[in-house]
Amino acid sequence: MHAGGRRVGTLPVMGTSTEDTEFNYGLLLEQEKTSQLLFELLKELGVNVEYGWELVDTKVVEARADENDGEETYVETVIRRALLGDNTAPEDNMLIGGVDMYAEQENKEYETQTVRSKYLVACDGGRSTVRHKLDIGFSGRTLEHKTLMWDGICETNIVPNGITAVTGTNNKTMIILPLTNGLTRISVEAGPLSPTEDISQTLRELTVERFEALAQEAAHPSTFKVLSTTWLTCFKINERRADQFVYKNRIFLAGDAAHIHSPAGGQGLNTGLQDAHNLAWKLAFVLNGLVKNEGEVLETYREREAMADRAIDVSSKLLQRNRDNRLIARMAMKVLFTVGPLIAKCFKSFSFAPDVSMLKVRYHENVLNRPHDSQPVPAADYQVGVRAQDGVISPIATTTSSITDEKSSVLTSMRLHDLFIGLARFHILIFASDTHLSSATALTLAHNATNFVNQWRAKYTYTSTLQDGYTDKDLFKFHFLITSTSASISTEKTIQSLSQRQIGEGKVFLDDGSMIHKKYGFEAGRGSEEGGIVVLRPDSHIGYRVNGLQDQAWKDVDQFLSSILASQLE
Ligand SMILES: Cc1cc2nc3c(=O)[nH]c(=O)nc-3n(C[C@H](O)[C@H](O)[C@H](O)COP(=O)(O)OP(=O)(O)OC[C@H]3O[C@@H](n4cnc5c(N)ncnc54)[C@H](O)[C@@H]3O)c2cc1C
Repeated sequence: MHAGGRRVGTLPVMGTSTEDTEFNYGLLLEQEKTSQLLFELLKELGVNVEYGWELVDTKVVEARADENDGEETYVETVIRRALLGDNTAPEDNMLIGGVDMYAEQENKEYETQTVRSKYLVACDGGRSTVRHKLDIGFSGRTLEHKTLMWDGICETNIVPNGITAVTGTNNKTMIILPLTNGLTRISVEAGPLSPTEDISQTLRELTVERFEALAQEAAHPSTFKVLSTTWLTCFKINERRADQFVYKNRIFLAGDAAHIHSPAGGQGLNTGLQDAHNLAWKLAFVLNGLVKNEGEVLETYREREAMADRAIDVSSKLLQRNRDNRLIARMAMKVLFTVGPLIAKCFKSFSFAPDVSMLKVRYHENVLNRPHDSQPVPAADYQVGVRAQDGVISPIATTTSSITDEKSSVLTSMRLHDLFIGLARFHILIFASDTHLSSATALTLAHNATNFVNQWRAKYTYTSTLQDGYTDKDLFKFHFLITSTSASISTEKTIQSLSQRQIGEGKVFLDDGSMIHKKYGFEAGRGSEEGGIVVLRPDSHIGYRVNGLQDQAWKDVDQFLSSILASQLE
């Protein structure tokens, strides 16, 4: 934080523990690069993006008599493409870009098509035509002041450090974000909208000089000069959420079409990506005939609504905090040289890593997140619905020779999340602690797990291979975790044989210090020291969790899976 031309303090914003995630930092990635990465991935997967087509209408209609594939309804969508040039409005340009400009243009000729599909995912941004056409409300509020956002190269005597908030002596504030290739992003408040002011008009009249003047006011008494500009925009902040994300189990709203808020906290794109992550595997399951009740499973996409509310709330509070910070910055500057250390201590409480990291996202109970019938869901981080926690694990050496102590039997460490290979697949985590590792119990456990997983694989399977780099059609991957590799355990025949398996095929790993057992609630003294089974949904949220590894535990998991999945054998 800079104020009055000086650096006055530093707030810890993004850092979280490596215990929780390998990615314990904030990453500022230009949206253009994110888009590029996603387009490259789509291309790799053989998906062709057809540019230039604009959705003009969509609705859910009854199936026609000749459409006899069992579907009662279809989505009918009208799209169009300009015959000459593109659908872009003349005032759109790379420099002064609208945040979400309409592609409407008068006197243009279009080719039009009507497309019938089983499903439609509306990712058409904050002004979503789909949302309007379906008359889905977008409740919330619009903040009546303007923010300018600029990308470019500037010259200033402010030395930015991470995300830098600069408050000038005249109480104007700007946020400086370092981008790559010497580029900088700056957002600066441009005051309230007058009652008669139209933001589109303001946007059209916006100039780089206007931005530069505002930034200079905020930097004062430091200097600021624009050298070149790659992007400049002006927007009002909306905090809104679509009243429903699922329409007739056929149309789904995702991304800004479903929720929108201020850029504070960088939650927007991330929340949109999580929408996609949540919905993609459910659609894949339905389209592959893998679920018993399609409507029930697709309806669970509504679990994202509460997450959107959360993101809006986090972003709104951060925006408010940003304003509070201005006050703190001014105060801090005044007392910096007297009580500086005390202020630094206060700043620590301003960390918002837990909120913005989204590591604590939790979906509430539904058909996919089901507490065990007879085991109460513990009110802790390992409850059903939470995102699977991460941590460090180690493979176990596959040779019995020269194992003399615990350390020599363990190979280089990796992370639990590295096991979650493949798309749209369940992962079964078997927490065996160290109480199941005598020869007899380990053998029974290995047999039970392998038998059940093989039965599930036979009953519930993809009919075609997924394009995720794995050649199998299996819906299930499974993994053992043990907490001890004492010489007697690591040389034990069953453990040795499990250690030689492939990842996903029941390979065994060491959870040193029981860290992961604890994170998933399998620790001594909690009545669950006998270990247990956790079923992770394909998007790595806990779907089901059972204490114990006896026959009954496997039958309970079997029942959970059969309540959702359709057997291919029947
Ligand atoms: C200034 C600013 C800064 C931001 N900073 C961050 C940040 O740091 N971190 C973060 O996570 N998020 C940030 N966001 C939010 C982020 O940009 C959005 O959340 C994200 O772009 C939403 O993606 P989307 O695909 O849902 O919508 P969009 O990116 O808006 O994409 C919608 C697409 O649909 C197309 N479209 C619209 N209507 C039609 C139609 N009728 N037919 C066909 N196509 C149509 C549009 O042309 C567009 O390509 C920021 C947003 C703004 C405005």
